[in-house]
Amino acid sequence: MTKTLSFDSSNVSVYFNSLEKVSDTVRWNQYSKILAVTHPVLLDLYNIKDTFNKKNIDVVTLPEGERTKSLPSFVDLSRVFFEKSLDRGSHVIVIGGGVLGDLCGFLCSVYMRGISFSLVPTTLLSMVDSSIGGKNGIDLDFGKNLLGSFYHPKNIIIDLNFLKSLPQREIASGMSEVIKYAILEGSSILEEIKKEKPDIGRLVELSIDIKSRYVKEDEKETTGTRALLNLGHTLGHAIEARTAFSRFTHGEAVAIGSCFAAFFSYNLGYASIEFYKEVKSLFEKYNLPTLYPGDIDIESIRQYILKDKKNISSKLRFVLPKGFSDVFIFQTDFEIVKDCLVKWIEYEKN
Ligand code: NAD
Ligand code: MG
Repeated sequence: MTKTLSFDSSNVSVYFNSLEKVSDTVRWNQYSKILAVTHPVLLDLYNIKDTFNKKNIDVVTLPEGERTKSLPSFVDLSRVFFEKSLDRGSHVIVIGGGVLGDLCGFLCSVYMRGISFSLVPTTLLSMVDSSIGGKNGIDLDFGKNLLGSFYHPKNIIIDLNFLKSLPQREIASGMSEVIKYAILEGSSILEEIKKEKPDIGRLVELSIDIKSRYVKEDEKETTGTRALLNLGHTLGHAIEARTAFSRFTHGEAVAIGSCFAAFFSYNLGYASIEFYKEVKSLFEKYNLPTLYPGDIDIESIRQYILKDKKNISSKLRFVLPKGFSDVFIFQTDFEIVKDCLVKWIEYEKN
């Protein structure tokens, strides 16, 4: 199955099939030169060399981990592009999760002022979230995602086989963003998530539809619609940063953040307590954390919350759900957030 996502700046073809099958159908010969980039672990697990070498496509690898989304790797990979003689008519195929997609997408957006690329997301998070929407970037020592661009891939190849080797914790982390979409949307995705055995392929498809719809409405994040995708992320990011990005996966932090958003909304009189409990149970179903980590002093997250990218002239902007498929942006300040965090911790103690 193939789908076209039409954004203002470009069209993106999304293929739902095995990488092997799709790579037999894409017209790779339209490019002057193609380079595939992946991680060593994926190379070994999935015969990636065979798939591409028979099409005369070179494969290079980069180490796994967030540290690869850095300026040194950006420079190293630029050198590889140069040594492999990539030119403006060339193409890069990225086989990996959000780390590799963000790094390579960013480099492709500026290498020789822009060369085309395709994404083959291999984590659930990258299938449902990071490969959609054209955001790329790298981290600097003093902040995450500080350099980046908006630049869409030409193709996205969704091959669910990759999920077979993905550790359970990474699957749960991706599910957290899927649950976030279910809170934003309600309807079919919420029903699918609640099933005893949800169909992961259907969840991926529905997630791609939802994310691309939000992106289409606000491609460069100027009107605020795209910011709604940040549900659970204000507190989530703060907890991730406060724990040096090593204790929680992104999805785990978003799960905590989303539960807090639902409680905050209840506390302000917008949502019911039943809604809060239902949100919490969705994350619990996937073994995601749903409580504020007791050992993190609330005051110590202040600086991270205040740095949230959504803030406008020192006012915090929290995405709050009134119920399923009913979210809005609530302007507030840290004292109010802190007061509600204390109440939330108290409530959960009883
Ligand atoms: P990741 O790319 O680091 O992958 C997670 C781990 O799983 C890595 O160790 C990786 O080597 C391994 N892995 C990947 N595929 C595998 C497979 N099929 N089997 C076994 N192991 C596999 O992490 P991620 O969660 O995919 O992405 C996180 C990154 O995405 C962050 O840097 C985040 O900032 C970024 N992100 C970007 C966007 C965006 O819109 N651009 C959105 C969300 C997140
Ligand atoms: Mg996220």
